[in-house]
Amino acid sequence: MIDLVFPDGAVRPYPVGTTGRAVAESLSKSLAKKAVLIKLDGALRDLDRPIETGGPIEILTREAPEALEVIRHDTAHILAQAVQELFPGTQVTIGPAIEDGFYYDFARETPFSLDDLALIEKRMAEIVDRDEPIRREIWPREQAIAHFEDLGEAYKAEIIRDLPEDVPISIYWQGSAWKDLCVGPHLPSTKHVGKAFKLTKLAGAYWRGDHRNAMLQRIYGTAWTSQAELDAYLHRIEEAEKRDHRKLGRQLDLFHMQEEGRGMVFWHPKGWALYRTLEAYMRRRLEAAGYVEVKTPQVLDNTFWQKSGHWDKYRPNMFVCETVEGEVLALKPMNCPGHVQIFNVGLRSYKELPIRMSESGACHRYEPSGSLHGLMRVRAFTQDDGHIFCREDQIETETADFIRLCQSVHADLGLKTDHIALATRPDVRAGSDEFWDKAEAQMLTAARMAGVEPVIAEGDGAFYAPKLDFIVKDAIGRTWTCGTIQLDYVIPERLDAEYIAEDGSRQRPVMLHRAILGSYERFIGILIENFGGAFPLWLAPVQVVVATITSDANDYAETVAKQLRAAGLRVEVDGRNEKINYKVREHSLGKIPVIAVVGRNEAAEGTVALRRLGSDGQEILSLEDAKIALSAEALAPDQRTCGV
Ligand code: ZN
Repeated sequence: MIDLVFPDGAVRPYPVGTTGRAVAESLSKSLAKKAVLIKLDGALRDLDRPIETGGPIEILTREAPEALEVIRHDTAHILAQAVQELFPGTQVTIGPAIEDGFYYDFARETPFSLDDLALIEKRMAEIVDRDEPIRREIWPREQAIAHFEDLGEAYKAEIIRDLPEDVPISIYWQGSAWKDLCVGPHLPSTKHVGKAFKLTKLAGAYWRGDHRNAMLQRIYGTAWTSQAELDAYLHRIEEAEKRDHRKLGRQLDLFHMQEEGRGMVFWHPKGWALYRTLEAYMRRRLEAAGYVEVKTPQVLDNTFWQKSGHWDKYRPNMFVCETVEGEVLALKPMNCPGHVQIFNVGLRSYKELPIRMSESGACHRYEPSGSLHGLMRVRAFTQDDGHIFCREDQIETETADFIRLCQSVHADLGLKTDHIALATRPDVRAGSDEFWDKAEAQMLTAARMAGVEPVIAEGDGAFYAPKLDFIVKDAIGRTWTCGTIQLDYVIPERLDAEYIAEDGSRQRPVMLHRAILGSYERFIGILIENFGGAFPLWLAPVQVVVATITSDANDYAETVAKQLRAAGLRVEVDGRNEKINYKVREHSLGKIPVIAVVGRNEAAEGTVALRRLGSDGQEILSLEDAKIALSAEALAPDQRTCGV
C-alpha cells in the first residue's frame, strides 16, 4: 500500500498502482467526473497513470490554473493529428505549449496557406467532438525508433535516438489511429481539451533552431480554458496589432528599416526628435543621481576582447573586421570592459567610490536574421548603460537608490511597475554557496530598503551573480522586462580593477551593471505601443501644428510658429490650401497633441485657437498666453515644479 496525503492534510492508504481516477472516485463521484489531471508530489500527471509511490496528491479539474498549460499542449497534439489527417505525408516534429498558446513544427514540401488554417481548425473541433481517449504507453526504445522510421517520421526517430538511455520512451495515443512521442502529461480525452482555441499564424522555423538544418513550417495557436478567455485574448491581440510599433513607425514617419541594414534603424527626423528627447531626459535624471557620463570606442582590437573574455565566449555574436594593416578588430557588443579602462586610469582611492559611470553606449550584436523584430530585436542598439564601481559595503545602498531611480523613470514614461524579479543562483554557476547566499541576501535587503518585495525567479541569475529585473506593465496589460541591476565580481578581477582601501591595501571594486530602459531602440518601440503613438506633449516629436483656415493667415501662422519655437516647442506649420476640418482630421490621425488654428480673426487679434488631441472643443488664447501655457505643459516630468 502507499499513503497519499490530501490538501486538507488527510492521509489515506491506496493499493500500489492505483490511478488518479480511482482515487478521485474514492472521494466523490462528482469530483471523479470533473477530474482531468493529478498533481503528485508537485508534478502534474495523467489521471489514469498508475501511482507507484505515496506523497502529497491533488486532484485537478480542467479549471485549475495548472491545467491550462496541459490544455495548450493537448491542443498542439490535436493540431498535429488534424494536419496529418488532412495532409498525409506531413511529418510531425515538436509542439510545445508556450506563453498564451502553443505551436507545432511540421515538415512538409508544400507551404501551408492561411486558408488551410481554417480547414485545420475545423478538423481540430471534430477531433474534440470525437472525444478520443488519450492513452500513455511505454515502448522499448528500438521498437519506437523502428516504428517511427517505418512511418516515415524521421524527425521523431531522431528525437528518440537523442534521448538519454535511461529516459522511458512514452507514446501518447489519441484515439486508436494517431499517436505521438511525448513526455506528457495529457488530459484523459480530446473532449476535455475544449474548443476555446484558434490558430493564429504561420512561420518558418529551423529544425532544432539551427539555420544549417531543414526549414520547417510552424503553426502557432492560442488556447484557453473558456471561450470568454479566448475572446478577451483575441481582443488584446487586435489592440496590440493596432499599436504595432512597426506600423505606427511608418504611419507617424518615425523610422524605417531595410534589408541592407538588417536589425539597424534609420531614424527619420520625427523619430529622432523622440529619441533625443528621451535621451536628454535620461541624461538629466542620471546627472541628478550622481552619474558621470563617458564615451568609449566603438571598435577595439581583438586582444582587448580576449582579455575581457568576450572573444572566447561571445565571438559568434560579434561583428569582426580587419584592416589593411592586418589588425583584427571587433565592434563592441557591450560597454562594460570599456568603462573598466576608464576606472583603471590612475590610482583610485576608496574615498572616490562609488563611481557611477554612464554611457549612451552604441553596441552591435549579431542576431540571427530570423529573430529580428522591428525595434524590439535589433543588431545595432544604444544602451542607457551604466556601471557603478563600489565597495562591498556600498552594494545595498547603491542598489536601493537604483531601484528608486528606475521606478521613478518608468513612472515618468507612463509604465507601471508590475514587479521586480530577484534572479537567483542558476544550476551552472561560478562561486561558492556562501558567496551566493551573501549576494542574494544583499539584493533582497536592497529591494526591501527601497520598499519593494521582489518576486524570486529561481535559477534565473547570471553565471556569476544574482540580479534584479524590472518588469513593467503597459497600457493594454502586457508586461515587458525593462531595467536591470546585476552584481559582478568577475570583470573587475579579469580586467584588474583595483582601489586603495582605507588600510592602504589594494582591493577589487564590485561592479554593478545597470540599465533603466535597456536599449533606446527597444524602449522606444515599447513607448510607441504603450501610447499607441499618441505621446504625451513632452515626448511628442511634433508638439504643435499651426494650421491656417485661409491662406491670408499664412504669415501670421509663421509668426506663431516662430514664437512657439523660441519657447522651446517643436512646431510645424500647415499652410496648405485645404479645408480646416480636413487639416484637423489629418493631424489628429497623425496624433499631434495640439493644433493651433489661425484665421483672419486670430491674425487680427493676435490669438490662437488651441485644439487638443482627443477633445472636440477649442480654447482661444492670446499668443503670449498660449506660449506660456504650452511651454509649461511641454516640460518633462523631471523639469516640472510644483504648481505647474
Ligand atoms: Zn555592463
